[in-house]
Amino acid sequence: MKPAPFEYFRPASLDEALALLAEHGGDAKPLAGGQSLIPAMNFRLATPAVLVDLNGISELSYINSDAGDIRIGGMTRQRTVERSVLVSDRVPLIAETMPHIAHPAIRNRGTIGGSLAHADPAAELPAVMLALNARFTVSSQAGAREVEADDFFMGLFATAVQPGELLTDIRIPPSPSHCGFAFQEISRRHGDFALVGVAAVVSLDAGGNCADARIALLSVGDRPMRAVEAAKTLTGQRPSAESIAAAADAAATKDIDPSGDIHASARYRRHLAKVLTRRVLTRAFERARQG
Ligand SMILES: Cc1cc2nc3c(=O)[nH]c(=O)nc-3n(C[C@H](O)[C@H](O)[C@H](O)COP(=O)(O)OP(=O)(O)OC[C@H]3O[C@@H](n4cnc5c(N)ncnc54)[C@H](O)[C@@H]3O)c2cc1C
Repeated sequence: MKPAPFEYFRPASLDEALALLAEHGGDAKPLAGGQSLIPAMNFRLATPAVLVDLNGISELSYINSDAGDIRIGGMTRQRTVERSVLVSDRVPLIAETMPHIAHPAIRNRGTIGGSLAHADPAAELPAVMLALNARFTVSSQAGAREVEADDFFMGLFATAVQPGELLTDIRIPPSPSHCGFAFQEISRRHGDFALVGVAAVVSLDAGGNCADARIALLSVGDRPMRAVEAAKTLTGQRPSAESIAAAADAAATKDIDPSGDIHASARYRRHLAKVLTRRVLTRAFERARQG
């Protein structure tokens, strides 16, 4: 199918894009890599009257280090993030995750901001940003505001970004000391959206006990889910096969309420959540111990 008719603008600067979005309000949609929006328009699931193409705005594409944080511009291609030495050195959880997202051809066009703003509950990056405690800058003609990842994802394909706004910057704080991370997912074929995925960042105190654990799951609800109860069972405990198994059990039984679909039953998703949480925590604590 072909998309419904729309007006097309290709601004050359962020200011110009924000002015267009302010002028057209809810009738306008930003176009980033187009890897989700264009198929949705072709199927007429999305029928924006106005497209504001962000691809001419070079100021939104960057990866840099700023006061200890890693900052990534909203229009940075997923493949650029995947290949960044700065990202793999400083935020290796992202580097470990990127190859799981679709295929290289899609990552060549797809952007980090597009993935986060689209907020597919089966997408990897939203869950990873929850685990990393990232902060997002959301900009409009009225100014910019910061939103914590915990407050950003509001429901099925719904985020804190309002009409007239753009996700312009992703800021990832430095890892605590004695920190470990891991990401794993299960999908039917490599490159497919995951049936379930888990990301975790853990840290150890001086005595080798768990100081903090941020665990996030994807494809188990209407948005990426933090496993808060699982983290509570670990905090202050020595990471062991038993304490990790208890946390994995809490993640699967208390933190999520998955539904079934044609790809997997709710029961199977819970099972995967438990298995993956156990594997991911085991790997993350191993890495934390290795420093
Ligand atoms: C075959 C296939 C397989 C895929 N598999 C996966 C997968 O396994 N995992 C995964 O995570 N993704 C997958 N994707 C999706 C892919 O990662 C997309 O790139 C991503 O979801 C959207 O990024 P985009 O830059 O293409 O955004 P677009 O498609 O251009 O936009 C998506 C939405 O976000 C809005 N938007 C875009 N940028 C901004 C911004 N800066 N501020 C505010 N709103 C914005 C748009 O208006 C639109 O509503 C797959 C896609 C395809 C086609």
